Amino acid sequence: MAFDFQQGILDKLEKGTLEELGMDDTFTFSCGPECMGRCCRNITILLDPWDIEVMARHLELSGQEFFNRYCQMELDRNTGWPVVWLAHAKEGSCAFMLQDGKCSIYPARSRNCRTYPLGRAVRYVQDREGRRMDERIFMVDRMQFCLGHKSGRSWTVREWFEDAGAITYYRMSDQYTELVDYAVRELNCREWMNPKVVQMIVPFLFAPDLLRYKLGPGVEEIGHEEFHLRRMKAVKLILTDLASGFGYGPAGEVTERAFAGSLMDRMKAVLVDGA
Ligand code: SF4
Ligand code: SF4
Repeated sequence: MAFDFQQGILDKLEKGTLEELGMDDTFTFSCGPECMGRCCRNITILLDPWDIEVMARHLELSGQEFFNRYCQMELDRNTGWPVVWLAHAKEGSCAFMLQDGKCSIYPARSRNCRTYPLGRAVRYVQDREGRRMDERIFMVDRMQFCLGHKSGRSWTVREWFEDAGAITYYRMSDQYTELVDYAVRELNCREWMNPKVVQMIVPFLFAPDLLRYKLGPGVEEIGHEEFHLRRMKAVKLILTDLASGFGYGPAGEVTERAFAGSLMDRMKAVLVDGA
């Protein structure tokens, strides 16, 4: 689903049917009470680990509790990768929408909620200098019900992202995207990803509090952003290890590191010591 969606956006950008923007381009937009919350119903809000972590912390829930109450997950049919979205928003009104249409978790809303009507698609491309990230920013297809385009102040894309607090979200999201790209391209995870493997990596992706509880490092010791980076590295190691068993993945340094010591020792080295 997520990759079809991403590919659909890239196809539209190539055809010019979606408006592409640069960081210094301007657009006009403001949310107002007339249509408040119409955008928070029957919509697929895809979630990254950082989205879930921030929302769970805001609601003082564990990652697992948040996940169980508010998320749905399925394996993407093209890549095998687990894709997660806000359950209630897809099937009706978002669980966090108040009666007046406002968002009850506004400071912790997901990156896609906070940057609307702008979107950002990221993919990795191979060129002569190696594999690199290709970032595209675009104006989401205009919805009839959304009156935000009709009035309001003028913004540059940069101002909009800064005002929305999106920069950290994108930085975290890019760490996740790099992991997914690695799993799909290098480890060929579509051939071997299954519910048991997903069960193994879900705590690393979506339950940082559980990992902290089991392994010890507190927030004062390792901050949330650094712990996110280490979790993505830990998942990379687990998947490299697993993929090798299925006959996929790179030989060499990463694989040697992946196999050095017990799984728990390796996880501790990455998560606690930042190895
Ligand atoms: S999290 Fe908030 S902004 Fe996002 S869909 Fe739900 S109510 Fe709307
Ligand atoms: S202007 Fe658009 S994005 Fe803003 S509240 Fe209305 S429908 Fe939602």
